Amino acid sequence: ANGVNLSIPPLKVAIIGGGLVGSLAALNFARNGHNVHLYEYREDIRTSELVQGRSINLALSERGRKALAEVGLEDEVLSTAIPMRGRMLHDVKGQTSVVLYDPCTNQCLYSVGRKHLNEVLLNAGEKFPNIQYHFRHKLKSANLQEGSMRFQCDYEEQQLEEATADLIVGCDGAFSAVRQQMSKTLGFNFSQEYIEHGYLELCIPAKNDEFQMPPNYLHIWPRNEFMMIALPNQDKSFTVTLSMPFKVFEGIRTPKELLEFFHRYYSDAVPLIGEELLIKDFFKSKPQFLLSIKCNPFHFADKAILLGDAAHAMVPYYGQGMNAGMEDCTLFFSILREPHMTIGKALETFTERRVSDAHAICDLAMYNYVEMRDLTKRFSFKCRKMLDTTLFRFFPNYWVPLYNSVSFTSMPYSKCIANRQWQDEILKKIMFIVLSSAVLFIGALYIVH
Ligand code: FAD
Repeated sequence: ANGVNLSIPPLKVAIIGGGLVGSLAALNFARNGHNVHLYEYREDIRTSELVQGRSINLALSERGRKALAEVGLEDEVLSTAIPMRGRMLHDVKGQTSVVLYDPCTNQCLYSVGRKHLNEVLLNAGEKFPNIQYHFRHKLKSANLQEGSMRFQCDYEEQQLEEATADLIVGCDGAFSAVRQQMSKTLGFNFSQEYIEHGYLELCIPAKNDEFQMPPNYLHIWPRNEFMMIALPNQDKSFTVTLSMPFKVFEGIRTPKELLEFFHRYYSDAVPLIGEELLIKDFFKSKPQFLLSIKCNPFHFADKAILLGDAAHAMVPYYGQGMNAGMEDCTLFFSILREPHMTIGKALETFTERRVSDAHAICDLAMYNYVEMRDLTKRFSFKCRKMLDTTLFRFFPNYWVPLYNSVSFTSMPYSKCIANRQWQDEILKKIMFIVLSSAVLFIGALYIVH
């Protein structure tokens, strides 16, 4: 096992949730010499045909890559991921323009399949004798103080299985049952916000075994109140995410209304999706809710900790939910390996170092929703982007634009925001100086004449 901290004896660790963060956390605990039991509500996604859950593919960036590299899986994941070098914007007339993420150093996002990534992580865990998977186990209740848990196993109806652990790790997503238990303890702060927009997934299939749009971009159709994005898949299709206010979804009741709506706002996407498939996929399922969750602390005594969406769920518009959850692992396990660390101190230190950054990325994700559906179209946004890129090119260590610092560095999220604030101040001053010089110059010309 790598990086074993001898000051913390091997613990019996119960990880609740075997999604992207839970399966990564299991690997990390096992590599640190602990005995891991991972309890997952669903069946094993590696053997199930239909996997229910959230988005089909995701944008992986620096923070997620770093966490995968730490468990030796970055190369394997990237080998099947599709690089996205920038945003390809589709206007109402169907014309496209490209805004590269990082023209200076060519960094990019990677589109990865959620199921594939989860499978890679679970397969890697299978190789550790000190990890045991318990699928179809849903945590029903827990006594965090005593470290005892009760699970419902859906193959034996009504039967509850009991288990104990030294440490309970809540990786059970936005509606975390572990967090629910924690919320009953004194001093636990919690807030959640549903946004009035929902999302629905559509598909642009491959045609003649080829992508129908350039694959190395994150495609965006920004339309003020609503927005559509598309990420490429390995099978040369695109997963399209349509997001708009629930009331707009509700207003579209018939195939005719749907086609009218699409021809009006997303005309270039209609032949790509195909009218028949569009109608089928749109009416197949209901739009999903999106919410943002903040809480504090992320731990309970030396008994329990929350990682990933369980600690900080966010709206998906910065493409950082999974990346932030994976970065939780990077931070937590680096703390755990610090000399003279105890488990109680490690949990406390994690909360101290992570809460403000987690809250910062929740806020940024909310901000980017506005940027993606609205600002990306605006002239002022494009000017700012150009200015940022130019300054970044000349001062790469000093002027890192907000999007780049969030997506392509491991700079703490709160520092990314602080950077943006002083950059805004400097730009305001530069604008003031340029405008006042222009006024003075014109005034001087007027006097001379
Ligand atoms: P989850 O993925 O929610 O996994 C939780 C697991 O716990 C699940 O397997 C669930 O079955 C299990 N579970 C739940 N309750 C229990 C219980 N009581 N007992 C046992 N098991 C339980 N992030 C990015 O970084 N990039 C993106 O591009 C991106 N795009 C997104 C697009 C959309 C539309 C959405 C909705 C999200 C997107 N995200 C993205 C966010 C990302 O999906 C989440 O941040 C990520 O899945 C969090 O992983 P997790 O393991 O913490 O939680």
